[in-house]
Amino acid sequence: MAQTMNETMTRNPHYDILFEPVKIGPVTARNRFYQVPHCAGMGHRYPFANAAHRAIKAEGGWAVVCTEESEIHHSSEISPATESRIWDEKDIPALQLLTDGVHQHGGLAGIELVYIGYHGPNRYSREIPMAPSHTVADSYEPIQARAMNKKDIRNLRRWHRQAAIRARDAGFDIIYAYAGHDMSLPWHFLSKRHNLRMDEYGGSLENRVRLFRELIEDTKDAVGDKCAIAVRLAVDELLGDSGITSDGEGRDIIAMLAELPDLWDVNISNWANDSMTSRFSTEGFQEPYTAFVKSLTTKPVVGVGRFTSPDTMVDQVRRGVLDFIGAARPSIADPFLPNKIESGRENDIRECIGCNICVASDNVVAPIRCTQNPTTGEEWRRGWHPEKIQPARSKESVLVVGGGPAGLECARALALRGYQTTLADSRSSIGGRVALEARLPGLSNWARVRDYRSGQLEQLAGAEVYANSTMDADLVEEFGSDHVVLATGSHWRRDGKGRQHKQPIPGLDYFPVFTPDDLLNPSFNIDDMPSGNIAVYDDDHYYMGGILAEHLAKAGRTVYLITPASEVSTWTQHTLEQGRIQTRLLELDVHILQQRRLERAGSASIETACVYTGRVETVDCQSIVMVTERAPERELYDELTARQDAGGLQKILSIQLIGDALAPGTIAAAVYGGHRCAREFGEEIEIDKAPFKREIPWFSGH
Ligand code: ADP
Ligand code: SF4
Repeated sequence: MAQTMNETMTRNPHYDILFEPVKIGPVTARNRFYQVPHCAGMGHRYPFANAAHRAIKAEGGWAVVCTEESEIHHSSEISPATESRIWDEKDIPALQLLTDGVHQHGGLAGIELVYIGYHGPNRYSREIPMAPSHTVADSYEPIQARAMNKKDIRNLRRWHRQAAIRARDAGFDIIYAYAGHDMSLPWHFLSKRHNLRMDEYGGSLENRVRLFRELIEDTKDAVGDKCAIAVRLAVDELLGDSGITSDGEGRDIIAMLAELPDLWDVNISNWANDSMTSRFSTEGFQEPYTAFVKSLTTKPVVGVGRFTSPDTMVDQVRRGVLDFIGAARPSIADPFLPNKIESGRENDIRECIGCNICVASDNVVAPIRCTQNPTTGEEWRRGWHPEKIQPARSKESVLVVGGGPAGLECARALALRGYQTTLADSRSSIGGRVALEARLPGLSNWARVRDYRSGQLEQLAGAEVYANSTMDADLVEEFGSDHVVLATGSHWRRDGKGRQHKQPIPGLDYFPVFTPDDLLNPSFNIDDMPSGNIAVYDDDHYYMGGILAEHLAKAGRTVYLITPASEVSTWTQHTLEQGRIQTRLLELDVHILQQRRLERAGSASIETACVYTGRVETVDCQSIVMVTERAPERELYDELTARQDAGGLQKILSIQLIGDALAPGTIAAAVYGGHRCAREFGEEIEIDKAPFKREIPWFSGH
């Protein structure tokens, strides 16, 4: 029998309102939990994995579970991104896997029909993208879209209608017309920024709304007797007067179409605004833009805002802001969020931390992953369930050294399996890097990685956690557990070795160099750094360099951020944060030196070189924060394995290294590494072949 946490508690009556059924046109949702459409990097390429990922949310209590964007026609596709496809009837069986899975668990399945327009360069089909007006692509890709003529519009309406019929035949209960995120053709028609037409589809708002209205009417006419017709509309672009605003045309569009769809799914545009990270937004951040919608329609309204607190959810419904609690990220981090509230286990919710690693996986065209939920994307291929795990194979005991994300997750999952598990960490409080990094500006939600796991460990009978416990090889031996897992983390290098420099940077021995570990140390005081300017050298390119520059600038220091890349924190393009990070640093007057590497340090200055020409410039800096590469903390592992190699430690059956101590990476990678170690503990693992199921496109020739 699989191991799960106790599920016998009763629901808090305060949350009853969240479990009321809500009618959406011809269908009824069993409660108010609604997984809005979201990308998962699996779509048409990995249909089994996608179906299992969505079905598990229905199992976890979500009343509605939607697909990602589902491309309706080959003339508008966004490959290599992996969205859903409903180009013709051959796509129906793959989509049926999803609808069957969702229905099996009592959920309604929704599909977001999309015609991407000029946002999709059609790299696969090689069709010319279409748009309301002639326009260059919105990326720097050398592509232009052509303006649609009346025949194109008639064709599009027919394609949308046909796709809706296919969607109904595939078993979908809710079918979307989609105008959002600055990513769909109906949106481009709505927007006066994109729509420069002079005919009845351009000009006045009524004309610009015409196509969207027709698509909704066509869909209702085609399948509205059986399926609910939902509309996804962005009501504000956060662009002020140059975009659609919630007190301007966003409001007017809702007023014009108020009773036409069966459900309004409203949000803000673009994706970086809609999926804003916790660094830049708080729970419920979309309310100021979307709250008006319910005053203009009698139809149910769903909205998002990274909702993880049941009290906030109840508040949204009671105050008449929303009828459905929409969620993408909270449903990824915890597919069982509704069931946990329903069974009085709200303290067991694995709350989304708002880091956007899930978004980043889609952006790098990889199957979805999540920092908080290591089973995300692994439901089908590895058979991992977010709440169930196979029982222990033996009564053996495990000592986990290190209470960061890797050690905590490993200990939690091992203890859940039934292994007698002890976690020891040298620090006075557990959490490793998340406990420290959560103190940086905007990252407080990241502590949820620790809080969820420490909360679970407290409830698990076979688990013990010890802080203030530095383990050396003698203590590990003395402790006498059957197995040892080392999750001892990593430290930032001080010598500048990284992407640019494969050897230490010269001159650093005589210069005040600090690392992120120094600055994150709770006893560190920025005032103890030499007075004068501080250089942050960022050859890491994720969040750390940028956020330390922000931290130092907010402490009143003059900061130079030096990066070999063309923009600060460049990898955060994938988490949709880069624009906000660079804006914030510029607003804080951080001096950004781009495309430059740190060349050498002098006595009271440093030299940087252009990464293209090598031309050197001197920067007046009195200290450097080195954000380049991390070194795994593996001394204990090396010592223990050396003793084993010498014939010692015979009672210890296995020693494993996991997380950043194995190879420093993201927090998501550390959690995954910890979880995987626990899942595979005591199991026979295939290493000559992929240890997971694959989806092989053998069905070719069509
Ligand atoms: P990861 O991301 O892999 O979980 P972290 O750096 O977040 O790594 O956490 C590593 C944790 O291991 C830190 O809290 C650190 O204090 C702890 N640690 C490292 N070495 C030892 C040791 N020898 N004994 C006990 N705890 C240790
Ligand atoms: Fe939330 Fe981060 Fe998981 Fe995405 S990856 S669902 S933002 S915790």
